[in-house]
Amino acid sequence: MKSKLSSPPILAYPDPSGLEFILDTDCSNSALGAVISQVQNGHEKVIAYYSPTLSKSEINYSELKYGVSSRQCNVISDDKSKVSNPNSWINGLFDSEIKCAQRKNKNLALIINLMENSDHKPTWHEICSESIVVKALWSQWKRLEIRNNILYRRWEDDTGKKISWQLVVPDSFKTDILTNLHDAVTAGHLGVNKTLGRIRERFYWTGVGENVKEWCRRCHQCGSRKRPPKTFRAPMKTYNVGAVMERVAMDIMGPLPLSEHQKNWDVLLPLQMMAYRSAEHDTTKYSPNVMLFGRDVRYLIDVLYGTVSNNENFDNLPDYVMQIRTYLDNVHEFAREKINNASDKQKWYYDYKVNFKPYSVGDAVWLHDPKRKVGISPKLQCNWDGPYLILNSISDLVYRIQKLESSKPRVVHYNRLKPYHGDFDNWLTKTVIQKDTESHATANEENNIESDIELSENEQCDMSNFPTDNIEYGRGNRVKRPPNRFVPD
Ligand SMILES: [Zn+2]
Repeated sequence: MKSKLSSPPILAYPDPSGLEFILDTDCSNSALGAVISQVQNGHEKVIAYYSPTLSKSEINYSELKYGVSSRQCNVISDDKSKVSNPNSWINGLFDSEIKCAQRKNKNLALIINLMENSDHKPTWHEICSESIVVKALWSQWKRLEIRNNILYRRWEDDTGKKISWQLVVPDSFKTDILTNLHDAVTAGHLGVNKTLGRIRERFYWTGVGENVKEWCRRCHQCGSRKRPPKTFRAPMKTYNVGAVMERVAMDIMGPLPLSEHQKNWDVLLPLQMMAYRSAEHDTTKYSPNVMLFGRDVRYLIDVLYGTVSNNENFDNLPDYVMQIRTYLDNVHEFAREKINNASDKQKWYYDYKVNFKPYSVGDAVWLHDPKRKVGISPKLQCNWDGPYLILNSISDLVYRIQKLESSKPRVVHYNRLKPYHGDFDNWLTKTVIQKDTESHATANEENNIESDIELSENEQCDMSNFPTDNIEYGRGNRVKRPPNRFVPD
């Protein structure tokens, strides 16, 4: 690579016939780099490389100043787009501009003024009526230094070996710095600590930690990918059945391979079902057979030993029916009581760590809406879509939300939402709130739209979570695929 870089066609002789030279510069904490090039016959050719390491005293100068002073050389080029690095906010900033910006800031100007006009730290009495920023800088008096008319703060790492000079940043630069060190392609939207670390190597301002935290929290890109620190989960809604067959649940699976040899599970399955149906249920304390038929099945052993249940000694059918009805009523009454107790307990466990904050009309939210795309790792997809706005709440746990003024509203469960903290144009607060809440208040419309309710996979499975009165559960536009496992050849 070294030889390729230092030979044609990459390296060329300079053409002195009036063509402009381009100077690219770069620097790190310990070295400088520069390349002089020239556009010859439409191609950019390198004329010379320069890459010295810095001496001990040179290292003490701020990185920024090298950036700035080397930037000044770029003025000789007429082609600014070629020499400017779009990822560097340093471009176009000169010492004089930084100096000017610091002095335009009231707080920094005051500190600089105090430093320039006296050689001792002002007393508390002198600054006690000033702002928090001034006081914070005052408390770090020994660490501040004015170098070449610009205010810096000395920063040492934990070992005390690495010392750098942080530019004390005026308010007007903060957004630019945060954008470059968090949002830029080269910054990569890393978390609070990494962004803060990057900033601290170069810059200082009072409250930088809080600002970075807030910046990352409000960042749209980060929000669309990251899980909320706490999972937002609504308290469980319980729905207890009070009579036999009032609600039927089915688990459907298969096709499964048929049995071979001793693995005759399909032959044994009915026996297993029999065992389950005749066993006492945890919650109701009765077996499913008793709950449904008022009696249990007779086992082989009952036949062998002649054990006979009480309610089979009847002379006539009407008597039998009467008695079994009474018996079933009692059983069901007892079971209802047990179910209520058990569901209270289940709800208590579920709600134990619940993190439930209801949303209000107009709140901005993210919607968890994962869409699997073939060939793309789920890790790399943005699972959170937003911002949506809350139009109204249909029940405690179900909200109607809408993304844009022109888009269709969606009805979703609380557990799929998390708060949105970024900035955006809130179309709802402008016009719609008043009209919307009024129009949606009619019972008729409630019933119509509730049939659009969208449920995530988990919610589909656990219906006990839901306010169920009169709500239909549709699946939207999901693609239905047959399972491809266990398909017999
Ligand atoms: Zn981000």
